[in-house]
Amino acid sequence: MCGGGNLMKAAVLEEVGKLRLKDVPVPQPKNNEVLIKVRVCGICGTDIKLYKGDYTANVPVILGHEFSGEIVEVGKEIKDLKIGDRVVVDPNEPCGKCYWCRSGKSTFCKNMPAYGVLSNGAFAEYIVVGEKGTYKIPDALDYEKASFCEPVSCAIHGIDRAMIKPGETVTIIGGGQMGQILLQLAKNAGASKLIMITRSQWKLDLAKSFGATHLISAKKENVTESIMDITNGLGCDVVIEAVGSPRTVEQAFNLAKKSGRVVIFGFSPEKEKATFVPFTLLSKELSILGSWVNPYTFSRAIEIIA
Ligand SMILES: [Zn+2]
Ligand SMILES: [Zn+2]
Repeated sequence: MCGGGNLMKAAVLEEVGKLRLKDVPVPQPKNNEVLIKVRVCGICGTDIKLYKGDYTANVPVILGHEFSGEIVEVGKEIKDLKIGDRVVVDPNEPCGKCYWCRSGKSTFCKNMPAYGVLSNGAFAEYIVVGEKGTYKIPDALDYEKASFCEPVSCAIHGIDRAMIKPGETVTIIGGGQMGQILLQLAKNAGASKLIMITRSQWKLDLAKSFGATHLISAKKENVTESIMDITNGLGCDVVIEAVGSPRTVEQAFNLAKKSGRVVIFGFSPEKEKATFVPFTLLSKELSILGSWVNPYTFSRAIEIIA
Protein backbone atom coordinates (compact mmCIF):
# COMPACT_ATOMS: atom_id res chain seq x y z
CA MET A 1 0.00 0.00 0.00
CA CYS A 2 0.93 3.60 -0.40
CA GLY A 3 0.78 6.39 2.12
CA GLY A 4 1.50 5.92 5.79
CA GLY A 5 4.29 8.47 5.65
CA ASN A 6 5.79 7.16 2.40
CA LEU A 7 7.50 9.64 0.15
CA MET A 8 7.17 10.22 -3.58
CA LYS A 9 8.97 12.30 -6.19
CA ALA A 10 7.15 15.45 -7.30
CA ALA A 11 7.97 18.59 -9.33
CA VAL A 12 6.96 21.45 -7.06
CA LEU A 13 6.64 25.05 -8.27
CA GLU A 14 7.91 26.81 -5.15
CA GLU A 15 7.71 30.30 -6.60
CA VAL A 16 7.84 31.92 -10.03
CA GLY A 17 10.91 30.57 -11.86
CA LYS A 18 11.69 27.93 -9.23
CA LEU A 19 10.57 24.37 -10.07
CA ARG A 20 12.16 21.69 -7.85
CA LEU A 21 12.07 17.91 -7.98
CA LYS A 22 11.48 16.95 -4.36
CA ASP A 23 10.55 14.08 -2.09
CA VAL A 24 7.13 14.85 -0.61
CA PRO A 25 4.63 12.73 1.36
CA VAL A 26 2.28 10.55 -0.69
CA PRO A 27 -1.12 12.26 -0.25
CA GLN A 28 -3.93 10.41 1.51
CA PRO A 29 -7.47 10.32 0.07
CA LYS A 30 -10.36 11.58 2.18
CA ASN A 31 -13.63 9.61 2.24
CA ASN A 32 -14.84 11.12 -1.05
CA GLU A 33 -11.50 11.02 -2.86
CA VAL A 34 -9.29 8.51 -4.66
CA LEU A 35 -5.52 8.07 -4.84
CA ILE A 36 -4.18 7.68 -8.38
CA LYS A 37 -0.81 6.34 -9.46
CA VAL A 38 0.10 8.72 -12.27
CA ARG A 39 1.10 6.91 -15.47
CA VAL A 40 1.45 9.82 -17.92
CA CYS A 41 1.30 13.58 -17.46
CA GLY A 42 1.68 15.98 -20.38
CA ILE A 43 3.48 19.30 -20.23
CA CYS A 44 1.16 22.14 -21.21
CA GLY A 45 1.87 25.69 -22.37
CA THR A 46 0.03 26.72 -19.20
CA ASP A 47 2.71 25.00 -17.10
CA ILE A 48 5.32 27.20 -18.75
CA LYS A 49 3.18 30.30 -18.15
CA LEU A 50 2.79 29.33 -14.48
CA TYR A 51 6.55 28.85 -14.21
CA LYS A 52 7.21 32.25 -15.77
CA GLY A 53 4.53 34.00 -13.71
CA ASP A 54 2.35 34.94 -16.70
CA TYR A 55 -0.51 33.16 -14.96
CA THR A 56 -0.85 32.80 -11.19
CA ALA A 57 -0.39 29.46 -9.41
CA ASN A 58 -1.20 28.85 -5.76
CA VAL A 59 2.44 28.23 -4.80
CA PRO A 60 3.92 26.04 -3.52
CA VAL A 61 2.09 23.58 -5.77
CA ILE A 62 2.87 20.40 -7.71
CA LEU A 63 2.27 21.26 -11.39
CA GLY A 64 0.70 18.98 -14.03
CA HIS A 65 -2.95 18.80 -15.10
CA GLU A 66 -3.02 16.64 -18.28
CA PHE A 67 -2.75 13.14 -16.89
CA SER A 68 -3.89 9.55 -16.79
CA GLY A 69 -3.32 6.83 -14.24
CA GLU A 70 -4.58 3.95 -12.17
CA ILE A 71 -6.60 4.06 -8.96
CA VAL A 72 -4.63 2.53 -6.08
CA GLU A 73 -6.76 3.58 -3.10
CA VAL A 74 -10.38 4.72 -2.67
CA GLY A 75 -12.08 6.69 0.10
CA LYS A 76 -14.86 5.05 2.15
CA GLU A 77 -17.71 6.88 0.40
CA ILE A 78 -16.60 6.02 -3.15
CA LYS A 79 -19.09 3.71 -4.86
CA ASP A 80 -18.51 3.88 -8.60
CA LEU A 81 -14.72 3.68 -8.73
CA LYS A 82 -12.45 0.89 -7.51
CA ILE A 83 -8.80 -0.01 -7.12
CA GLY A 84 -7.32 -0.93 -10.50
CA ASP A 85 -9.58 1.34 -12.56
CA ARG A 86 -7.73 3.11 -15.38
CA VAL A 87 -8.77 6.75 -15.35
CA VAL A 88 -8.35 10.31 -16.55
CA VAL A 89 -9.22 13.32 -14.43
CA ASP A 90 -10.86 16.63 -15.20
CA PRO A 91 -8.66 19.05 -13.26
CA ASN A 92 -11.55 21.50 -13.25
CA GLU A 93 -13.97 19.19 -11.43
CA PRO A 94 -17.00 21.36 -10.66
CA CYS A 95 -18.32 21.52 -7.08
CA GLY A 96 -21.97 21.27 -8.13
CA LYS A 97 -23.03 23.60 -5.31
CA CYS A 98 -21.94 27.15 -6.13
CA TYR A 99 -24.04 29.75 -7.96
CA TRP A 100 -22.35 29.01 -11.31
CA CYS A 101 -22.62 25.22 -11.05
CA ARG A 102 -26.30 25.56 -10.17
CA SER A 103 -26.81 27.90 -13.12
CA GLY A 104 -25.46 25.35 -15.64
CA LYS A 105 -22.20 27.24 -16.06
CA SER A 106 -19.67 25.10 -14.24
CA THR A 107 -16.93 26.72 -16.33
CA PHE A 108 -17.00 29.50 -13.71
CA CYS A 109 -17.22 27.21 -10.64
CA LYS A 110 -15.79 29.08 -7.68
CA ASN A 111 -14.51 25.92 -6.02
CA MET A 112 -12.87 23.95 -8.80
CA PRO A 113 -9.66 22.34 -7.55
CA ALA A 114 -7.66 23.22 -10.70
CA TYR A 115 -5.19 20.41 -10.04
CA GLY A 116 -1.71 21.50 -11.02
CA VAL A 117 -2.56 25.22 -10.71
CA LEU A 118 -4.43 25.92 -7.48
CA SER A 119 -4.03 22.50 -5.82
CA ASN A 120 -1.46 19.73 -6.25
CA GLY A 121 -1.18 18.23 -9.73
CA ALA A 122 0.32 15.21 -11.42
CA PHE A 123 3.99 15.96 -11.99
CA ALA A 124 4.27 13.38 -9.22
CA GLU A 125 4.05 9.66 -8.64
CA TYR A 126 0.64 9.94 -6.99
CA ILE A 127 -2.22 12.42 -6.84
CA VAL A 128 -5.40 12.59 -4.76
CA VAL A 129 -8.51 13.73 -6.64
CA GLY A 130 -12.26 13.94 -6.12
CA GLU A 131 -14.69 11.38 -7.48
CA LYS A 132 -16.77 13.74 -9.63
CA GLY A 133 -13.95 14.66 -11.99
CA THR A 134 -12.59 11.12 -12.38
CA TYR A 135 -13.52 9.24 -15.57
CA LYS A 136 -12.83 5.58 -16.41
CA ILE A 137 -11.22 4.99 -19.80
CA PRO A 138 -11.68 2.04 -22.19
CA ASP A 139 -9.16 -0.82 -21.89
CA ALA A 140 -7.98 -0.25 -25.45
CA LEU A 141 -7.03 3.38 -24.77
CA ASP A 142 -3.40 3.62 -23.71
CA TYR A 143 -2.29 5.98 -20.96
CA GLU A 144 -0.30 8.23 -23.27
CA LYS A 145 -3.21 8.95 -25.59
CA ALA A 146 -5.55 9.24 -22.59
CA SER A 147 -3.43 12.05 -21.15
CA PHE A 148 -4.65 14.17 -24.08
CA CYS A 149 -8.23 14.12 -22.75
CA GLU A 150 -7.80 17.38 -20.85
CA PRO A 151 -6.43 19.51 -23.72
CA VAL A 152 -8.93 17.93 -26.14
CA SER A 153 -11.78 18.69 -23.71
CA CYS A 154 -10.72 22.37 -23.63
CA ALA A 155 -10.49 22.45 -27.44
CA ILE A 156 -13.99 20.93 -27.74
CA HIS A 157 -15.33 23.82 -25.66
CA GLY A 158 -13.55 26.29 -27.96
CA ILE A 159 -15.12 24.62 -31.00
CA ASP A 160 -18.54 24.66 -29.30
CA ARG A 161 -18.10 28.38 -28.71
CA ALA A 162 -17.14 28.91 -32.38
CA MET A 163 -20.45 27.37 -33.59
CA ILE A 164 -18.84 26.27 -36.87
CA LYS A 165 -21.29 25.47 -39.66
CA PRO A 166 -20.56 23.14 -42.59
CA GLY A 167 -18.91 25.00 -45.45
CA GLU A 168 -17.46 27.81 -43.37
CA THR A 169 -13.92 29.13 -43.56
CA VAL A 170 -12.05 28.66 -40.30
CA THR A 171 -8.61 30.00 -39.45
CA ILE A 172 -6.51 28.83 -36.53
CA ILE A 173 -3.76 31.19 -35.40
CA GLY A 174 -1.07 29.17 -33.64
CA GLY A 175 0.27 25.72 -34.52
CA GLY A 176 1.14 24.48 -31.04
CA GLN A 177 -0.51 21.51 -29.38
CA MET A 178 -3.83 23.29 -28.87
CA GLY A 179 -3.86 24.82 -32.36
CA GLN A 180 -3.33 21.40 -33.93
CA ILE A 181 -6.12 19.84 -31.84
CA LEU A 182 -8.49 22.73 -32.65
CA LEU A 183 -7.70 22.30 -36.33
CA GLN A 184 -8.72 18.64 -36.32
CA LEU A 185 -11.92 19.37 -34.39
CA ALA A 186 -12.78 22.27 -36.74
CA LYS A 187 -12.41 19.89 -39.68
CA ASN A 188 -14.77 17.42 -37.99
CA ALA A 189 -17.18 20.27 -37.26
CA GLY A 190 -17.51 20.93 -40.99
CA ALA A 191 -15.04 23.67 -41.87
CA SER A 192 -14.54 23.76 -45.62
CA LYS A 193 -11.54 26.04 -46.00
CA LEU A 194 -9.31 25.38 -43.00
CA ILE A 195 -6.35 27.71 -42.64
CA MET A 196 -3.38 27.37 -40.27
CA ILE A 197 -1.25 30.41 -39.47
CA THR A 198 1.94 29.69 -37.58
CA ARG A 199 5.65 30.48 -37.69
CA SER A 200 7.46 27.13 -37.85
CA GLN A 201 7.57 25.05 -41.01
CA TRP A 202 7.21 21.79 -39.06
CA LYS A 203 4.00 23.06 -37.46
CA LEU A 204 2.66 23.98 -40.91
CA ASP A 205 3.56 20.50 -42.18
CA LEU A 206 1.85 18.93 -39.18
CA ALA A 207 -1.28 21.04 -39.79
CA LYS A 208 -1.33 19.87 -43.41
CA SER A 209 -1.21 16.24 -42.27
CA PHE A 210 -4.17 16.97 -39.97
CA GLY A 211 -6.30 18.38 -42.79
CA ALA A 212 -5.47 22.08 -43.16
CA THR A 213 -6.41 23.21 -46.67
CA HIS A 214 -4.24 26.35 -46.61
CA LEU A 215 -1.01 27.12 -44.76
CA ILE A 216 0.27 30.61 -43.97
CA SER A 217 3.76 31.19 -42.60
CA ALA A 218 3.54 34.04 -40.11
CA LYS A 219 7.29 34.38 -40.51
CA LYS A 220 7.44 34.76 -44.28
CA GLU A 221 4.07 36.10 -45.42
CA ASN A 222 1.88 39.15 -44.96
CA VAL A 223 -0.82 37.26 -43.08
CA THR A 224 -3.70 39.65 -43.83
CA GLU A 225 -2.93 39.68 -47.57
CA SER A 226 -2.69 35.90 -47.68
CA ILE A 227 -6.04 35.50 -45.89
CA MET A 228 -7.73 37.97 -48.24
CA ASP A 229 -6.28 36.11 -51.27
CA ILE A 230 -7.64 32.80 -50.00
CA THR A 231 -11.07 34.22 -49.14
CA ASN A 232 -11.61 36.48 -52.19
CA GLY A 233 -11.20 39.53 -50.01
CA LEU A 234 -13.95 38.53 -47.57
CA GLY A 235 -12.04 37.25 -44.54
CA CYS A 236 -12.89 34.21 -42.40
CA ASP A 237 -16.18 33.14 -40.86
CA VAL A 238 -14.32 32.02 -37.76
CA VAL A 239 -10.87 32.92 -36.43
CA ILE A 240 -9.59 31.02 -33.41
CA GLU A 241 -6.66 32.62 -31.60
CA ALA A 242 -4.62 29.80 -30.06
CA VAL A 243 -1.31 31.52 -29.44
CA GLY A 244 -2.14 33.38 -26.25
CA SER A 245 -0.70 36.71 -27.34
CA PRO A 246 -2.43 40.11 -27.41
CA ARG A 247 -0.79 40.74 -30.81
CA THR A 248 -2.46 37.75 -32.44
CA VAL A 249 -5.78 38.66 -30.78
CA GLU A 250 -5.52 42.05 -32.51
CA GLN A 251 -4.69 40.28 -35.75
CA ALA A 252 -7.73 37.99 -35.42
CA PHE A 253 -10.13 40.97 -35.56
CA ASN A 254 -8.66 41.94 -38.95
CA LEU A 255 -8.82 38.44 -40.42
CA ALA A 256 -12.49 37.83 -39.57
CA LYS A 257 -15.19 38.41 -42.17
CA LYS A 258 -17.95 40.94 -41.60
CA SER A 259 -20.34 39.26 -39.13
CA GLY A 260 -17.60 36.72 -38.32
CA ARG A 261 -16.73 35.14 -34.97
CA VAL A 262 -13.43 35.49 -33.16
CA VAL A 263 -12.70 32.93 -30.45
CA ILE A 264 -10.10 33.99 -27.90
CA PHE A 265 -8.77 30.61 -26.86
CA GLY A 266 -5.04 31.04 -26.15
CA PHE A 267 -3.97 32.04 -22.66
CA SER A 268 -2.69 35.60 -23.01
CA PRO A 269 -0.67 36.69 -19.98
CA GLU A 270 -3.09 37.90 -17.30
CA LYS A 271 -2.04 41.53 -17.27
CA GLU A 272 -1.15 42.22 -20.91
CA LYS A 273 -3.37 44.48 -23.00
CA ALA A 274 -4.51 44.38 -26.61
CA THR A 275 -5.64 47.41 -28.59
CA PHE A 276 -8.44 47.51 -31.12
CA VAL A 277 -10.49 50.04 -33.04
CA PRO A 278 -14.07 49.94 -31.70
CA PHE A 279 -15.38 51.18 -35.05
CA THR A 280 -13.92 48.09 -36.76
CA LEU A 281 -15.72 45.77 -34.36
CA LEU A 282 -19.05 47.55 -34.61
CA SER A 283 -18.99 48.14 -38.36
CA LYS A 284 -17.99 44.51 -39.03
CA GLU A 285 -20.53 43.23 -36.47
CA LEU A 286 -17.93 40.87 -35.05
CA SER A 287 -18.79 38.40 -32.30
CA ILE A 288 -15.97 38.00 -29.81
CA LEU A 289 -16.15 34.77 -27.86
CA GLY A 290 -13.93 33.84 -24.94
CA SER A 291 -13.34 30.14 -24.27
CA TRP A 292 -12.57 29.22 -20.68
CA VAL A 293 -11.59 25.70 -19.63
CA ASN A 294 -13.71 22.63 -20.39
CA PRO A 295 -17.26 22.50 -19.00
CA TYR A 296 -19.14 19.23 -19.69
CA THR A 297 -16.73 18.16 -22.46
CA PHE A 298 -14.61 15.46 -20.79
CA SER A 299 -16.75 12.49 -21.85
CA ARG A 300 -16.73 13.70 -25.45
CA ALA A 301 -12.93 14.05 -25.32
CA ILE A 302 -12.63 10.40 -24.23
CA GLU A 303 -14.99 9.35 -27.07
CA ILE A 304 -12.93 11.23 -29.66
CA ILE A 305 -9.56 9.92 -28.47
CA ALA A 306 -10.70 6.32 -27.92
ZN1 LIG B 1 -3.24 22.21 -20.30
ZN1 LIG C 1 -19.20 25.14 -8.39
